[in-house]
Amino acid sequence: MRIGMGHDVHRLVPGRKLILGGVDIPHEKGLLGHSDADVLVHAVCDALLGSVGLGDIGLHFPDTDPQYKNISSLKLLAQTNEMVRQKGFTICNIDTTIFAEAPKIGPYRDTMQKNLAQAVEVAPGCINIKATTTEGLGIIGKGEGIGAMSVVLVS
Ligand SMILES: [Zn+2]
Repeated sequence: MRIGMGHDVHRLVPGRKLILGGVDIPHEKGLLGHSDADVLVHAVCDALLGSVGLGDIGLHFPDTDPQYKNISSLKLLAQTNEMVRQKGFTICNIDTTIFAEAPKIGPYRDTMQKNLAQAVEVAPGCINIKATTTEGLGIIGKGEGIGAMSVVLVS
């Protein structure tokens, strides 16, 4: 058995869609990035890559590569899942935390869980999504960005 962890932060800017866990969430700002900037999915990709010793998301999906421009990060997660399986591992569980002052994540949690489960071919019960604020502190508290962390176990 091996564990992996991932962490990511993206800047919130006007004029972008807010995509979290593959869900298009109505919000006055969205996350800036080369792909759809799905910070939750990026943290999960990094955790999975870390668990099997395959580096990080930037190594496999560079933000200078035009084929990844505005791509759904769920596609990157599905490709990451393939890499994990090719290494001979299967995913036991994925735990995550979203750090955001707004919007509220609760109404979208079940859909995010299903999206992640589908992308990595596990039962939804193997995925957990938590959300917290930073009580108004720092870049996340001021609404300048959204962060995410993930820990995974593979065997
Ligand atoms: Zn990212």
